[in-house]
Amino acid sequence: MAVYADIIIDIAAPKLDRSFQYRIPDALREEARVGSPVLIPFGSGKTLRRGYIVGIGDEPKIEASKIREIAEIPKRDLTIEDSLVTLAYRIRERYGGSLYDALRTVIPSRQKVEQVPKRMVRRALSADELMKRADGLRGNETAKARLYRALAETAEIPWELVSGKLRLTKAMLERAQADGILTIETVVDAQNDRGAGLTVTLNREQESAAAAVLSGDEKCSVFLLHGITGSGKTEVYLRVIGEILAKGQQVIVLIPEIALTYQTVLRFYRCFGDRVAFIHSKMSAGDRYRMRERARAGEISIMIGPRSALFTPFPNLGLVIVDEEHETSYRSELTPRYHAVSVAIMRAELCGAKVILGSATPSLETYYKCGRGEYRLLTLTKRAKDGAMLPKAEIIDMREELKSRNFSVISRRLREAVNRRLERGEQVMLFLNRRGYAGFVSCRACGETAVCPHCDVTLTYHKDGTLRCHYCGYRAPYRPVCPKCGSKYFLPFGRSGTQKIEELAAKEFPTARILRMDADTTRAADDYEAILSDFAEGRGDILIGTQMIVKGHDFPRVTLVGALAADLSLGAPEYTAAERTFDLLAQAAGRAGRDRIPGEVLIQTYRPDHYAVLTAADADYAAFYETEIRYRRACGYPPVRHMLSIVGADRREATADAAMEELAGVVAKAAQAEGALVIGPAPAQMKKKRDLYYRVLNVKHAEIEALIRIKDVAEAWMHGESGIGLTFDMD
Ligand code: ADP
Ligand code: ZN
Ligand code: ZN
Repeated sequence: MAVYADIIIDIAAPKLDRSFQYRIPDALREEARVGSPVLIPFGSGKTLRRGYIVGIGDEPKIEASKIREIAEIPKRDLTIEDSLVTLAYRIRERYGGSLYDALRTVIPSRQKVEQVPKRMVRRALSADELMKRADGLRGNETAKARLYRALAETAEIPWELVSGKLRLTKAMLERAQADGILTIETVVDAQNDRGAGLTVTLNREQESAAAAVLSGDEKCSVFLLHGITGSGKTEVYLRVIGEILAKGQQVIVLIPEIALTYQTVLRFYRCFGDRVAFIHSKMSAGDRYRMRERARAGEISIMIGPRSALFTPFPNLGLVIVDEEHETSYRSELTPRYHAVSVAIMRAELCGAKVILGSATPSLETYYKCGRGEYRLLTLTKRAKDGAMLPKAEIIDMREELKSRNFSVISRRLREAVNRRLERGEQVMLFLNRRGYAGFVSCRACGETAVCPHCDVTLTYHKDGTLRCHYCGYRAPYRPVCPKCGSKYFLPFGRSGTQKIEELAAKEFPTARILRMDADTTRAADDYEAILSDFAEGRGDILIGTQMIVKGHDFPRVTLVGALAADLSLGAPEYTAAERTFDLLAQAAGRAGRDRIPGEVLIQTYRPDHYAVLTAADADYAAFYETEIRYRRACGYPPVRHMLSIVGADRREATADAAMEELAGVVAKAAQAEGALVIGPAPAQMKKKRDLYYRVLNVKHAEIEALIRIKDVAEAWMHGESGIGLTFDMD
């Protein structure tokens, strides 16, 4: 019987929208695999084209006599392209979706590459003079001030960093050159700047963490570097990177977009000079492609960026670092919905590279794997700078405010603390914990919440007067009376936005200069960096914002952090609610007192006894983990078991319901064979979005492979007649 291969041709071509079928000659049957590179005849020309096998089957899709044969499977060392195709294949296998989508994620289509000369921006005035001029600028000249201060701090800065991260235009830089502030110089390749190397002496903990990564233990090459903010993780990265580069290998550093600030990138440039490049999501496709090509050509050795930097075509990758590995932005929102941590490990396995996952609040999954010996745990326990103190966090019981008839979202204690900072000219951050969970119900008098009796996640209030579980579909009538204490304050949380808090703060603190940072004020490219630098440079007394403000920014003059409504993320109708809450509160607490002025952290909550709140206030990750993993174990949630969420969507609600019921039957059969547990279908958390109705089906099993097989069954069903559009979420 003839065997056929689906082949995609020339993977970098912009129109990679279909595969072509070729016959596999008997002589090549052994070697032909999905992912194999092939040479094939194409069109009328004589030259053979390169392609990749993306599927194998025995049914011809057109008349069999018209199908041509694969000419050759080249026997040669695998190229970087080959290994990226293999990576795409594995991503598709794990996360579903089409191979086309997976390939496009891993290998973006070819772009015109403009040759851009390497340029440096050098200061033409002394640092003191620049600082003096910066201070003399008017309030609206913030871009200029940014430039002057940056140049005062660093004598020369790569052009791409100035334009990309400081957001300064070409015209502006040229004007500054004409004014004698700076010079713009084109760098000739011969005078490469290799950076200054490491400038601090690592302490004992840092030293032994770096040594552990570098020592060649082949069995375990994934490391978790667990250290509170300011414990010196970045210095450990820099040290390890230096050694990897010395071996002639390359490094990828993933940093969440929001933490990828000018300061962070500059630290890498200072250390390693122009061997460093960075990408970010606001960059044009052309610029990003140019960076990829530079990496492929060996012009750079370190790529810094968000998620997509993972696919930089380095020929000899030696290390992947995932900083802030617990960040939710590492999960892709687009198909395939891959998770950067898992894919970083996949990529590292393919080329024998090491992986460092860094965090102050590791994801439960990562920490769990350390316990099972899959990853190696390295800990930094102290702040690295002499004298920098850990802030102490105080929990404020909002139930007491209610009793004292203070109905404001700002407690008396917090108001007083803010006023003290304003008097002393210090800065304050007010962090509104708001992950957009309107609709969870809790008692303002005792803190009791409405929870699903089957799933142990919070129920969501619906306008028809019911409470519902969006895991299993359980519903119960809503009554405003607390089942525990009988108060009449058993109410759904509405959306209390940052704007409202800003108005309130303006009233309560009329003399303060208030800055606000949330999705609304940061719409334009890199707006958030402008707000952050305004705040960092003292053009604001209070910064109000969502989780955006607590991520990895260093503000030495912030001495008070207030977390408003810590409960909001506890009320998220997901099994990860406590983990998210712990992360946010611990990170928020880490913002205060980074330098020598001791900081204070106030956490306002209706649930002062909740373990996520208590352990975050003590910055005690281990204690949090112990309690949380017990809950996950008891309920069979990840990481103890794996969970596959299958989300179906349709324009008509009835169709969505009927199709998901049918799918549930199909999945139940497959699940029974595997010994997996099926929950739902239920309305998804986002029940209706852009006129589509969403339904979710959850499947749990101890082995991820079993869930992958069940996912394949569901995918096959989707491609059949009655199927509706499905997306898959693993863990
Ligand atoms: P993290 O990445 O864990 O938040 P950093 O690496 O940014 O921590 O370190 C926090 C601060 O401490 C930085 O200003 C850094 O330069 C400084 N630092 C780190 N390690 C040392 C050290 N061994 N000696 C002196 N200062 C250090
Ligand atoms: Zn109550
Ligand atoms: Zn439930």
